[in-house]
Amino acid sequence: MKNLYELTVVEALKLLESREITSFELVTSCLNRIEEMEPTINAFIHISKESALEQAKAIDEKRAKGEKLGRLAGIPYSLKDVYNTKDLPTTAGSKVLEGYVSPYDATVQRKLQSKDAILIGKTNCDPFGFGSSTENSAYGITHNPIDTERVPGGSSGGSGAAVQYGGGLFSIGEDTGGSIRCPASFCGIVGLKPTYGRVSRYGSIAYASSYDTVGPMTKDVRDSALILEIIAGIDELDATTSNDPVPTYQSTLDTSLKGKRVGVVKEYLGEGVDSDVKDAILKAIEVYKELGCEIVEISLPNTEYAIAAYYVIGISEASSNLARMDGIRFGLDVNTNEWKEKIIKTRGEGFSPEEKRRVMVGTYALSAGYADKYYNKAQQVRAVLKQDMLKAFENVDILLTPTMPVTAPKIGENTDDPLKMWLMDAFTVTINPVGVPALSIPAGKDSNGMPIGMQLIGPHFGEDILYNFAYQYEQKVKE
Ligand code: GLN
Repeated sequence: MKNLYELTVVEALKLLESREITSFELVTSCLNRIEEMEPTINAFIHISKESALEQAKAIDEKRAKGEKLGRLAGIPYSLKDVYNTKDLPTTAGSKVLEGYVSPYDATVQRKLQSKDAILIGKTNCDPFGFGSSTENSAYGITHNPIDTERVPGGSSGGSGAAVQYGGGLFSIGEDTGGSIRCPASFCGIVGLKPTYGRVSRYGSIAYASSYDTVGPMTKDVRDSALILEIIAGIDELDATTSNDPVPTYQSTLDTSLKGKRVGVVKEYLGEGVDSDVKDAILKAIEVYKELGCEIVEISLPNTEYAIAAYYVIGISEASSNLARMDGIRFGLDVNTNEWKEKIIKTRGEGFSPEEKRRVMVGTYALSAGYADKYYNKAQQVRAVLKQDMLKAFENVDILLTPTMPVTAPKIGENTDDPLKMWLMDAFTVTINPVGVPALSIPAGKDSNGMPIGMQLIGPHFGEDILYNFAYQYEQKVKE
């Protein structure tokens, strides 16, 4: 018998519904696990022990009385600390927001609460999502539970580590350029970056508003499909959400893949990709062949410009979004009433080097005289990247790539070279400027036993297609 914290959401729901376990037992198991792991892992910024146990008791009582319960009744989960919550502080991983408590809940939190899920804590992340390793957080580094000398990926590294070790059964991450997929890949779990506009961003502290997405991080594909069914959909508080109906993603998981077409992007298996990662992807291609798929080589010829375009637009938007961290609207109380000094001190003391770097470079890229050269040029590249991707989907159902070119690096390995860290995102950052969905699932291990992630990319609103392909693969390699 597994420990309760090891269960998937779907497994736990079955046991809760048949009354073989109580939510109190499940939440206690996750809390004990958190207590055991946190001294070495540091996946959480805030833990909500008392209120999680109280909620669990209340749900168990309701269940005992036969009252109607939500679809996730009694399931403990965590939220990346960029989501506003009324009952716990929200820091976005930055010192500038230390102690901040939001007066309202993010839509994703409201939706999960309305289904009786139980928030167990808020997870560590790079400040405002700026990073790929969770080493930039003001609240300490998160360690990878599989090898504690390595990073868990980022920026949703706390969520990746928490789901991996069982600190809650799932987590909600945020992905601007890979922040869900990278930690999913490094921690050996499943992470979905949904189509832009599929899940409401209301109450998510913005990094780059035209890229940001909200998505589930789970132990397997079915859990991801279930959670997306709950959090997706139109929201009157986020004008960029789509009114496309939300499918029941779980109902198409079993569809046969015979005759379907998988595109393998040749630019994503070239130089710079670790040989173990490459081998794992080649093996996955064989699995899809066995499942009856046709493999088609695809070219995304402008891939080499994607990182530059992504970062120019991303940090331009970030510099604008972070303008509100001025000590007046939001941010540290620096104990001066002279407004200019207040702004300078709030940012000087509240921002880490990475936050300062992004605000400064983003402001520069937007400034008069340079906007045409950098920001507008990057938007043109974005349009070309989108065309390339849409063209690829005329020929194939999905694209298959590595999620990351490498497995989890050692802590400190890249910290003195920010450019190297940015370049690691080559395969994830093309997705957000285009807005399509992408899913990272485990696809074997490297020679050190570290997980390798495979990225499946689908057309806009094609999450059902991604889940179908991912589930078929997952079941096949389990055999
Ligand atoms: N690592 C990327 C960056 O630093 C992506 C971050 C994210 O998706 N929030 O911009």
